[in-house]
Amino acid sequence: MIVKAPGQALTRSEILRWLLETDADRLEELWGAADEVRRATVGDEVHLRGLIEISNHCRRRCGYCGLQAGNSRLTRYRMSAEEVLAYARLARNLGYGTVVLQSGEDPGLTERWVTNLVRHIKEETGLAVTLSLGERNPQELAAWREAGADRYLLKFETSDPELFRHIHPPLPGENSDPFQKRLGLLGTLGDLGYEVGSGIMVGIPGQTFLSVARDLELFRELDLDMIGIGPFIPHPQTELGANWANPSGTPAPPASGPRAANRPLSASDQVPNDELTTCKVVALARLVCPEANIPSTTALATIDPAGGRAHGLQRGANVVMPDLTPLQYRALYEIYPGKGLSTASPEAEQARLLALIASMGRRPGLGAGERIRRVSCAAG
Ligand code: SAH
Repeated sequence: MIVKAPGQALTRSEILRWLLETDADRLEELWGAADEVRRATVGDEVHLRGLIEISNHCRRRCGYCGLQAGNSRLTRYRMSAEEVLAYARLARNLGYGTVVLQSGEDPGLTERWVTNLVRHIKEETGLAVTLSLGERNPQELAAWREAGADRYLLKFETSDPELFRHIHPPLPGENSDPFQKRLGLLGTLGDLGYEVGSGIMVGIPGQTFLSVARDLELFRELDLDMIGIGPFIPHPQTELGANWANPSGTPAPPASGPRAANRPLSASDQVPNDELTTCKVVALARLVCPEANIPSTTALATIDPAGGRAHGLQRGANVVMPDLTPLQYRALYEIYPGKGLSTASPEAEQARLLALIASMGRRPGLGAGERIRRVSCAAG
């Protein structure tokens, strides 16, 4: 039985066993357990967070992301404070409880500019404000928290320090280990009183099942308030995407060498970047961190437009982040191909999501949808 009494944590070998499971009937058990824990802890509400992608400028050269500084094919934009404020008002008018401001790691979004923007949004709309602006220094993070920002999203992407360094090279002059720096920032965010969100990509070339089991253990250790999990989607203007052998969406070559078709999966195999594996990680994240807010991500909906969003919500997720980015910028926020292609109006997108939520017997969340503490995440 997977649902355990509080205090009985899933062990690493149990997590691994589920990650390696391929039997559809057994997996039904995992989906059922995740859905049950979701219902018992965060309930039937699905929180809608209005996402505004405020700038695609970036100083980093991440091996996975289309916004990386070396991508000279991308037209860069930065929204004005007035524009962002107008779309935050739209989020409020649509009845969303939270606005998420996301960007590349853009020094042009100065401490002062973001501080003023957060203050204005809080004063005018009263919405919860989530920031996702990359690695910024503790002084900036403190100023934005002071101005009223409630939450911060910074995925650790993988808990394998070597793989992380490879996909997220340090900036010139950055001497600390990139993974330690990221963990340190997650600690700083918690100390500052932010609700802290992190997460991973599933199927990064070189990522093994064992490594993903460790990612899940790290979610639990960090006692995360929010956990974002999406499939890695190769982008041609990046190092990982350019080296991607098979851009059709099938798995990258196994990390441990070729696998015979009939050999069972093993801990050292390459994790596929597919819908099924992503759903396993979402479901396991719900089991290890029962109280966390977990989105059914846009990346999951991108690799499976017909079923991805619903599967995420039925297998542990309780949040959706509709894109409110103005259409003239949306296609330019191309962290991976296929994102930002929807030209639906915010109202139409909302209607579509509300219909989906109702069809699953769930209801839209009211209020800010912050993390509610019932039992400690560490007990899950
Ligand atoms: N610059 C900020 C926020 C923007 S990127 C940051 O790095 O935190 C937000 C998330 O998009 C990243 O954390 C990553 O998990 C995801 N992402 C980027 N490129 C991706 C790709 N090629 N495939 C799947 N997800 C990707």
